[in-house]
Amino acid sequence: MKTAILGYGKSGKSAEKLLKKMGINNIHIYDDKLTDFPEINKVTDEYDIYVVSPGIDINNLGINKNKITSEIDLAYNLLERESKIIAVTGTNGKSTITYLTAQILNNYGVKAKACGNIGFAFGEAVIEGYDVYVVELSSFQIDLIKYFRADASCISNVTDDHFDRYGNFENYLKSKIKIKDITKGQLFSLNSECLVNKLPESTVFIDENLKNFPVFEDNKLRFENFYVSLDNFNLYGWHNKINLAFSLSLSSSLFDFFGDMTHLIENLTGLEHRCEFVGAINETIYINDSKGTNVDSTMVALKSVKEDCILILGGYDKGGDFGELAALINEKVKKVILYGAAAAKIENQLLGRVNAEIISVYSLKDAVENAYQNSENIKYVLFSPGCASFDQFKNFEERGEYFKKYVNEIKEKIG
Ligand code: ADP
Repeated sequence: MKTAILGYGKSGKSAEKLLKKMGINNIHIYDDKLTDFPEINKVTDEYDIYVVSPGIDINNLGINKNKITSEIDLAYNLLERESKIIAVTGTNGKSTITYLTAQILNNYGVKAKACGNIGFAFGEAVIEGYDVYVVELSSFQIDLIKYFRADASCISNVTDDHFDRYGNFENYLKSKIKIKDITKGQLFSLNSECLVNKLPESTVFIDENLKNFPVFEDNKLRFENFYVSLDNFNLYGWHNKINLAFSLSLSSSLFDFFGDMTHLIENLTGLEHRCEFVGAINETIYINDSKGTNVDSTMVALKSVKEDCILILGGYDKGGDFGELAALINEKVKKVILYGAAAAKIENQLLGRVNAEIISVYSLKDAVENAYQNSENIKYVLFSPGCASFDQFKNFEERGEYFKKYVNEIKEKIG
């Protein structure tokens, strides 16, 4: 069996291990970024199987689609049948829901693993062996699935994204709602207008305002048979209450939760770089939301903090309209600090529309220092850049690490 792996990132490497486990050793790798391998567009039609990484647009390759498979399907075929799968998709919140669900199940005493698009390949998890796989799926991964099926799944939300690949919102939505075809058990979705009419009647809808299901009341989330108190739930923002609602819905659809289940959520941690608490200096809390790479996610982060905030924006512009932030800035922000390649453009879009003082500096380090110098009577310094990172950093993770380093340096300096 002659096999080609197209794309040798995390999923490609996992696919190679899975193929070898299946006894397939005649494997040829193609990758555009790694010089040891031929480029993907050089691939010929001589192979019996093509394992395609989700980042690759198969429509531009002249290969027989019947011979295409994915790392997700390869891993699924090697799975122990008694294990369970939870699948998570959506535009925003996927990684957080995936991560919270795995933690909740671990707290319940189940051996569960967060995997897939979150950064630990599904195949690697299958090789290690778990009782429950909580698999984050991007729409590109869903597009490639032929065999994979989930015992429960969710769509967190669907907003404008990836138009470069899908052309328009309808096509992108179509790809996301394919999750219903790969779900054997309960499907959960946000009750937003664009989703409600497109999903089966059996879908359980999570209410954006948490008034219908589950119900948020007395700082508790109440489900049909159980509830949790949020007194010690320490992830910032309303969006994380929604993410928790999804995680608890998914977990409880596989296991019987009953009565007070607060113990399952008391020690939950969020992911790095998503509205992450960095520390407090004097009375000011510093928050790292380096994953906020577009205006929509900066808006979500801003909604999570109270008034008296300094907002740091900037980086490599992806064409966002920062004017959309004006109302929230006027409500909560005392000062906006801009840095990096997009600073001038953002300033143009905010000037005259916001009451807050706006200043521009060169680097993120300058921005953090300026924020600290001006932090008297400020409750939050929020770093949610609304831009990509690659004007000054390798990726959003590196940018977030530097933000935390600069904050911690100030903290150490002042003792
Ligand atoms: P994804 O894996 O889908 O990119 P993450 O969990 O990494 O999502 O969160 C990325 C960003 O998306 C967060 O920093 C936050 O700004 C925003 N976000 C998270 N959860 C939600 C949600 N439920 N609704 C809207 N936006 C969200």
